[in-house]
Amino acid sequence: MKTDILIAGSGCAGLYCALHLPKGKRVTMITKSDAESNDSFLAQGGMCLLKEEADYESFFEDTLKAGHYENDKTSVEIMIRSSQDVVEDLITYGADFQREENGELAFTREGAHSQKRIIYHEDVTGKEITSTLLAEMRKRSNITLLEYTTLIDIVAEDNVCYGAVIQMADGALEVVEADYTVMATGGIGGLYKHSTNFRHLTGDALAIAIRHGVELKDIHYVQIHPTTLYTKEDRSFLISESVRGEGAVLRDKNGNRFVNELLPRDLLTKEIQKQMEKDQTEFVWEDLRTIPEEELRKHFPNIVEHCREMGYDVTKECIPVVPAQHYFMGGVKVNYESKTSMEQLYAVGETACNGVHGKNRLASNSLLESLVFAKRAAKDMTARYEENSKGHTAEANDKHRKAVLALVDLNAYQDIEKQKEENQNFVKEAIKRAEKGE
Ligand SMILES: Cc1cc2nc3c(=O)[nH]c(=O)nc-3n(C[C@H](O)[C@H](O)[C@H](O)COP(=O)(O)OP(=O)(O)OC[C@H]3O[C@@H](n4cnc5c(N)ncnc54)[C@H](O)[C@@H]3O)c2cc1C
Repeated sequence: MKTDILIAGSGCAGLYCALHLPKGKRVTMITKSDAESNDSFLAQGGMCLLKEEADYESFFEDTLKAGHYENDKTSVEIMIRSSQDVVEDLITYGADFQREENGELAFTREGAHSQKRIIYHEDVTGKEITSTLLAEMRKRSNITLLEYTTLIDIVAEDNVCYGAVIQMADGALEVVEADYTVMATGGIGGLYKHSTNFRHLTGDALAIAIRHGVELKDIHYVQIHPTTLYTKEDRSFLISESVRGEGAVLRDKNGNRFVNELLPRDLLTKEIQKQMEKDQTEFVWEDLRTIPEEELRKHFPNIVEHCREMGYDVTKECIPVVPAQHYFMGGVKVNYESKTSMEQLYAVGETACNGVHGKNRLASNSLLESLVFAKRAAKDMTARYEENSKGHTAEANDKHRKAVLALVDLNAYQDIEKQKEENQNFVKEAIKRAEKGE
């Protein structure tokens, strides 16, 4: 298969990147599952926006404080400064966000935010944004999306990426020739027993990066979400931080409050774990009755309904909550244009690490970060195409690429299921080593 740009992953990062690539280029997107099964669809709380210049300093400070001041300040600045542009794009595509009576965007708040600066669509903001992007992508004749198609490996030589090996929906392996390859494969929740992520998000891009010596960054920075519904479900259901932002409180086994519910996620998680240990329980209680019922039903209909399906009426009783793996701050190291340490290879979204989140992500910064840096990747590729068209590099590169791709031996991938399992162990081990500082 030949394409101009191959994008692995159809979450918000992959889609938004595709939409900003030149319309004259063939873009092939692949996704391991169906088009809608990605974490972008699950985002509940919302997305941060620099609502006015006066909020810049405090938005910046909140992001750094949550990240334990380990954030890359330039990345943070780029993210905040680009937020209005991204939201403008989304609204132009037709995304609908909550508005005040005067028609202005409405803002909500989550833990560790000193101001209300999060735009939202009920408690299904990610679905609103990502389904809008998906619909926009489907209008573009230059973009094709192949579902149930998996990135297995990249094809590279001398630190240049020339394409990839993918597994098609029917199980067949295929070599893809591409000028640029973008890894937008999301997080690593599938590697954990308890996670809010889709199970098929298993850090595949990380394993590929490790195998090819592509640099990684901060892979031991894994965010645990303090409050997920305690059930026996396969994927832990998130009780959004904005529920606490709007007044929900946490209680111990005796019904007493034991913590400031708006602490940054990592600190709140520690406090909850301490309390569970002290009480010898597998969960603590979250009380949503502190939020007026009308507000609860209007702002959080999805949470209210899911809890009801699980047997809890949040207007009348507390719900059991427990921390679970939620977000990956680390990832494939990228520069401010989302390029990895390998030529012609980009990484965007949760897969990538540009240092924006530091040690701990501030709530509702990840959709924004994914979109901002996905667009920058697309702009960078566009600029490189323009640059190449002025010189002779494109043709020379083309010849060499064909030669490299011709050498790919698909037999090396025959035991694909075993290799997938090995990849997962590979990533888990790498994270453990990073945790130990090795
Ligand atoms: C429950 C929940 C609530 C959240 N709430 C918020 C929120 O309110 N605000 C906020 O800012 N962030 C939130 N987040 C985080 C945010 O949703 C994600 O960080 C963001 O959507 C990541 O987007 P992405 O495009 O990088 O990855 P994803 O949307 O996860 O997409 C990954 C894509 O990669 C594909 N893929 C994976 N492996 C392969 C492979 N080997 N080959 C091909 N395709 C592959 C998947 O099928 C999928 O299409 C939430 C996350 C969760 C889980």
